[in-house]
Amino acid sequence: MPRELGQCPKCDVLMDTMRMLGVDFENCPSCNGVWLDHGELETLTRSRGGQALHVELKSNKRTNCMCPKCRPAAVLFESVHNLQEDFTLDVCGTCQGIWFDRGEFPSLLQNRKHP
Ligand SMILES: [Zn+2]
Ligand SMILES: [Zn+2]
Repeated sequence: MPRELGQCPKCDVLMDTMRMLGVDFENCPSCNGVWLDHGELETLTRSRGGQALHVELKSNKRTNCMCPKCRPAAVLFESVHNLQEDFTLDVCGTCQGIWFDRGEFPSLLQNRKHP
C-alpha cells in the first residue's frame, strides 16, 4: 500500500520512509523522530516475537504540533502512556498516529528485548 509522506510535526521537513520488520514508517531526517500510523506499533512489536504492545493513553495535553497525516486539521496531544514512564508520546486524536521523539522509539524496542 503506497503511503503519502508526511511532514515532521516538529520541524516541518518532509519525512523519509523507513522499513523495519516489514513495516513501512516515517522517520524525520532532521530531528530523527519517528511517526507510526495507527496499528503500526502493534505490528512492529508483534513481529519481534513477543506480544504486541498496546498503547493506553492516560492524559492528553494539546500541543501546537500538527499531525503529519491530518494537517492542518488536527494537532497532536502530548500523552502520558502505559509503555514507559520516562517520556510522553505525541498522539493524533483523529488518526491515532503516534510520534516518537529521537531515541524514544529505539528505547521502547530495546526495553522490550530485555524485560
Ligand atoms: Zn523533525
Ligand atoms: Zn492524524
